[in-house]
Amino acid sequence: MSDIQNQIAANGQAALSSVAAAQTLADLDHVRVTVLGKKGTLSEALKSLGQVPAEERPKLGALANEWKSKVESAIDARKVDLEAKQIELELVKTKLDVTLPSRKIHQGSLHPITQTVRKVSQVLGRIGFDVAVGPEIETDFLNFEAVNIPKDHPARDMQDTFFIGPGVVLRSQTSPVQMRAMRSQKWPVRILSPGVVYRCDSDATHSPMFHQIEGLWVDQKVSLADLKGVLDFFAKELFGSDTKIRLRPSYFPFVEPGAEVDVSCAICAGKNPTCSMCKGTGWLEILGAGMVHPRLFELAGYTPSEVSGFAFGMGVERIAMLLHDIPDLRLMFQGDQRFLKQF
Ligand SMILES: [Zn+2]
Repeated sequence: MSDIQNQIAANGQAALSSVAAAQTLADLDHVRVTVLGKKGTLSEALKSLGQVPAEERPKLGALANEWKSKVESAIDARKVDLEAKQIELELVKTKLDVTLPSRKIHQGSLHPITQTVRKVSQVLGRIGFDVAVGPEIETDFLNFEAVNIPKDHPARDMQDTFFIGPGVVLRSQTSPVQMRAMRSQKWPVRILSPGVVYRCDSDATHSPMFHQIEGLWVDQKVSLADLKGVLDFFAKELFGSDTKIRLRPSYFPFVEPGAEVDVSCAICAGKNPTCSMCKGTGWLEILGAGMVHPRLFELAGYTPSEVSGFAFGMGVERIAMLLHDIPDLRLMFQGDQRFLKQF
């Protein structure tokens, strides 16, 4: 056997070993190029046949071609194997385990203030109160004078207001909504006005922005007894059927007479002198109320001798704090998930 024959056979054997050793399709392609490519080992062997004597060429040519097709078949067969292996790997990698627990879906909840506004509106809605809304930027006239707090009235000192321009304020109470309602319709009027109000006040129990709900019922012969009946119903619905109310005489410029309204302490019923809710008094102040001052009917365009009515107002944060035993008003406005998740 000539040197060239040996060389071709050795190249062919080496190529077959490389094909068998290839672990990836990229490895296999590399073998194909180095053996069968233009400058591959077998291709070079075929080219070199030009230098051998003419009578030996056909035999050597046949031998080289034989090895070439052997290597080609080996590459094709190995390619099929490697492709199958790759598909299997791919399947294992992307396998979906349907028994795994699903990811937790985070669900939001309504802010305790929103919940409280809705609860109060729902309770009083059942006895005929409709929700009315108005602007947060209000005229000085509707915010003060129309609720019987004239410019020289000492009651103006009772609250510090954000004045944002001549005759324009951020409303310090939702009472302007009541005046707007009375001015836009004839009595009877039975409305609730929930909304944001603003005062220059900020500490543990005061926020410069907070929420109020005021109620107004105007009709013929509405009496103080009706006010007590509505408040009693409201307190029992909100704080439980054992709840009692009491009215303490108080002064608000827009009502006459006026009262502060307390509910009995549901935690201790007045029996615990160190109760954190009522401080042992047995009573919790929840709102202010009274019979609408006749002056307001005049400003609304009503005839005071024809109508009477009552109004009440409460701080939504205060009600929410009582309902959920929240110790600090500021928790309501900090957006802390640990707090909000509890509702
Ligand atoms: Zn108590």
